[in-house]
Amino acid sequence: MGRKPIIAGNWKMNNTIEESLELVGAVKKQSVDTYKVEVIVAPPFTAIRHVFDELGETSIQVAGQNLFWEDSGAFTGEVSARMLKQAGCKWVIIGHSERRQYFGETDVTVGKRLKAALMAELKAIMCVGETLEEREAGRAFDVLDTQVAGGLKGVEKSGLSKIAIAYEPVWAIGTGKTATSDQADEAHARIRGKLEALYGKEEAQAMRILYGGSVKPDNAKELLSRSNVDGALVGGASLKAGAFTAIISAGIDALAQ
Ligand code: PEP
Repeated sequence: MGRKPIIAGNWKMNNTIEESLELVGAVKKQSVDTYKVEVIVAPPFTAIRHVFDELGETSIQVAGQNLFWEDSGAFTGEVSARMLKQAGCKWVIIGHSERRQYFGETDVTVGKRLKAALMAELKAIMCVGETLEEREAGRAFDVLDTQVAGGLKGVEKSGLSKIAIAYEPVWAIGTGKTATSDQADEAHARIRGKLEALYGKEEAQAMRILYGGSVKPDNAKELLSRSNVDGALVGGASLKAGAFTAIISAGIDALAQ
């Protein structure tokens, strides 16, 4: 069987508990076929448990948007992997570019968070991606190599099945500018090549690489139909139930091609 696509919604710092319940209630109603794709929503910390309870028996999964690598202690403002797990998360997003840009996240701290997630048996979506400046300087692929190797440093082969990579070019996040499907496919192929160099062909072929950056219902099918694109990490469009479920359907349509 091929790689099962993932469509994940990153709500960022949006939605109160009430708004979260309204959104996830509407997603749930629009009969999402999670047999063919894995569907994940990442609410803010305050709403995680409520969203998990609302999802009940559905197979839509919940993710945290970040975690801290220590298990507990004097780390004001932080949340541990075990806490996320207990609140209902199966997944966590690690190293989102907004964390790198505004909160000083580096490949080293991404790696620590990733390992803490795996230790707690949480699956992780590790984000990588170049800035516009890096792309224009012809350094995009070097940046991807460094971020992939840096984040995965010390991760054993056995941990890989619990990790998905999200390629999110920083210049495409929240800007309305999407990478072309050629640009996305090419970057994903590069990431897969790096994974192969680090872990071997079989492991690299099995790993899911998602695209993120202004994915919308009208561009999702084109992006998701590319052979190296195994799903989407969706920001803005995941805040509207109709748009998010349309992207899930586009993922299913792309599979059928
Ligand atoms: C994201 O936050 O991961 C993202 C890709 O955002 P947007 O879809 O809004 O560009």
